[in-house]
Amino acid sequence: MAKTAIITGSSRGIGAAIAKRLAKDGCNIVINDVSQEVLDTAGAEVAAACREFGVRAECYAADVSDYAQCEAMVKWVKEQFGTVDVLVNNAGITRDGLMVRMDEDVYDMVIRINQKSVFNMTKLCAAIMMRQKSGRIVNLASVAGLYGNPGQMNYSASKGAVIAMTKTTAKEFGSRGITCNAVAPGFIQTPMTDKLTDEQKNAMLQMIAMKRYGQPEEVASVVSFLCSDDASYVTGQVIEISGGLSM
Ligand code: NAP
Repeated sequence: MAKTAIITGSSRGIGAAIAKRLAKDGCNIVINDVSQEVLDTAGAEVAAACREFGVRAECYAADVSDYAQCEAMVKWVKEQFGTVDVLVNNAGITRDGLMVRMDEDVYDMVIRINQKSVFNMTKLCAAIMMRQKSGRIVNLASVAGLYGNPGQMNYSASKGAVIAMTKTTAKEFGSRGITCNAVAPGFIQTPMTDKLTDEQKNAMLQMIAMKRYGQPEEVASVVSFLCSDDASYVTGQVIEISGGLSM
């Protein structure tokens, strides 16, 4: 039977690339976004691209920072698809600014969407995976969560927490056949990084050994491996996808 994969925040950027790649791998796909309007346009295009690989692909609108909405989404997926085999916690936002000027509500919002969402979705999907005695969870962390980044106190805190949550999930569920790993992208060309100034982009480029930015598909291929049978003995790990940014 085909596996079912939920990819949060997958109407564009890295999430959309992961959805298409896992569809190519033969998974049925659930595309999620906070906005129904975005799902009706961009999400529908991602779903159509997934279906070209002969799998089922459906969209579901939910704010993953809200536990009740996550609960409703996972219940719907279980009813519609019968299983949840793969969870990719991809949804995330940035609200950058130096700490002295960062408002408390902006700090809290980034933590809620990037970090609390991982608790919500992992708790709900792991309950299903435990009964199946198998499952794959991949979390989108960031190099900012590994090394910190000026202007990203909120974002780097949330991604550092996601790395800790990845290891805890791996330890809590390892004996149930569930693996949990994280990928830590560097600079990947998506709507999220399009917002940066040319000065910020050039400064980043100088630090990258490969002297180019990454593409969403280059993150998706690593996620695909971590979700595959080939990665059956890999858990609790953080794989950096940064073109050699940190060396
Ligand atoms: P993106 O282009 O901004 O896409 C993020 C997606 O998440 C969008 O579809 C967005 O929906 C969705 N989303 C936001 N808040 C949500 C919520 N509360 N509930 C459900 N969906 C929500 O970002 P990206 O660059 O592809 O990044 C994807 C992930 O990789 C993020 O976790 C990010 O932190 C991480 N990452 C990215 C980079 C990079 O260089 N791009 C580097 C390191 C890590 P809307 O379209 O409706 O806003």
